[in-house]
This record gives sequence, structure tokens and C-alpha cells, in this order.
Amino acid sequence: MHPAIPTMIELQRVDHQISALRAEIDSYPKRVLEADTKLSGARAEVAAAKETHTKSLTDRKKLEMDVAQWKDRAKKYRDQSGAVKTNEAYKALLHEIANAEAEVAKAEDLQLSAMMAGEESERKVKAAEARLKEAEKVIAVERNQIHALSDQKKKELAAAVTEREKYFTPVPEDLKELYARIAKRHNGTALAEARAGQCRGCGMRILPHIYEDLRHERNEDIYRCETCGLILYSLEPLVPSEPSTSTQNSTSTPS
Ligand SMILES: [Zn+2]
Repeated sequence: MHPAIPTMIELQRVDHQISALRAEIDSYPKRVLEADTKLSGARAEVAAAKETHTKSLTDRKKLEMDVAQWKDRAKKYRDQSGAVKTNEAYKALLHEIANAEAEVAKAEDLQLSAMMAGEESERKVKAAEARLKEAEKVIAVERNQIHALSDQKKKELAAAVTEREKYFTPVPEDLKELYARIAKRHNGTALAEARAGQCRGCGMRILPHIYEDLRHERNEDIYRCETCGLILYSLEPLVPSEPSTSTQNSTSTPS
């Protein structure tokens, strides 16, 4: 194992953590927006209920006028009845009176329905307003949670960025460049574990002698997967070299 590998494994771990944190932090404004969208639905309901209610009030006003108008007309015909000369004219007048009274009754029925509808639409306005108020409370809590979470993740990100320096600084310059180049092409990943003869990055087989070398204590070469190009490392116990003198920083852990 190349001596820089353990540090690079840590570097990759921190880099993955950093990009996950950045993605999460970037998602918060959208989540706040989504929360606000829920609110605009409740606001639209209130507006619609109010519009219905206003219309029902207008209908009611109009029906009140209809009732008054027909009542006026019936009264006018009744007042005329004293002055009628012929029997026929009297009959016609009686017919007009009956007709006007029927219209009064009809308009009064409609007026009653309109009053009930008005009460119903008023109830709906109040219910929609109550729902909006409730939604505003829920959204306010949600928004605070998102902001708190965002603050926390930003702190974690700052800590991870600081931690990254610890692992990045000691890596030799040429490996820094290699790491950056590969990571850029592979969505932030530059290293892949070699396990059971396979590259865990792409699943392809690793040539046996390379696989052997990866686990060899004395090996200081960097190997890359021939298929995906990721830098290979092994977490299996290192195979010590015969009379070995070099005790490297082998921080390998069994997986
Ligand atoms: Zn591979």
C-alpha cells in the first residue's frame, strides 16, 4: 500500500461528506419555497370562499329588491281596485294581484334559500380562514426547523472543510493532482476499494498480481483500476514482507 493511501481514504471520506452537506444545504431554499406553496393553497381557498360569499350576498340583495318590487306592485293593483268600473277590468285586476302575490311568495322562497346559502358560505369563509391560520402556524414551525437545520449543516460543513485540510496537506503534490483529476470525472470519487479480487468502484476484476501488490506492505505504487480508472486500495490486512523493516502507517481496518 502506498503510504499516502490511508490519508487519501480519509480525504475522500471528508470530500463525500462535504458534497453531501453542500447538496443538503442547497436543498433548503427549495424546501422553504415548498412550505410556502402549501400556504398559498390555503390562501387561495380563503379567497375562493370569500368570493362565493360576496356573490351570495349580492344575490340576496337582488332577491330582497324583487320581493319589495312585487309587493309594491300588488299594493298598487289593490289600490286601483276601488276605481275599477267594469266587471271585466276588475277580474283582470284580481288576476294581476294574484300574479304579483305569487311572485312575492316565489321571491321570498328564493330569498330564504339565499339567506341560508349566505350563512353556509360565511361558515365556509370562517373554516377556510381557520385552516389558513393553522397552516401558517405549521409552516412557521417548519420554516424555523429548516433554518435551524440549515445553520447546523453549515457549521458541519465548515468543520468538514477544516478537517479536509488535515488530510489534504500531507498528500504528495502529484497525488493531489491525480486525486483531483479523477474525482472531477467520477462525481467526487477518486478511490475505490479492492475487495475479493474486484474493484468496488465498477465491479470489474483486478489482475491477480496487482491485487496481490495492493495488499503488500512493501508496495509503494499507486494502482488504478484498468476499467474505471479509480485509485485502488485494499482494507484487508497487509501481507508483511519477509524480514520487513518498514513499519508504515498501516491504518487498515477489516471491512
Ligand atoms: Zn474499477
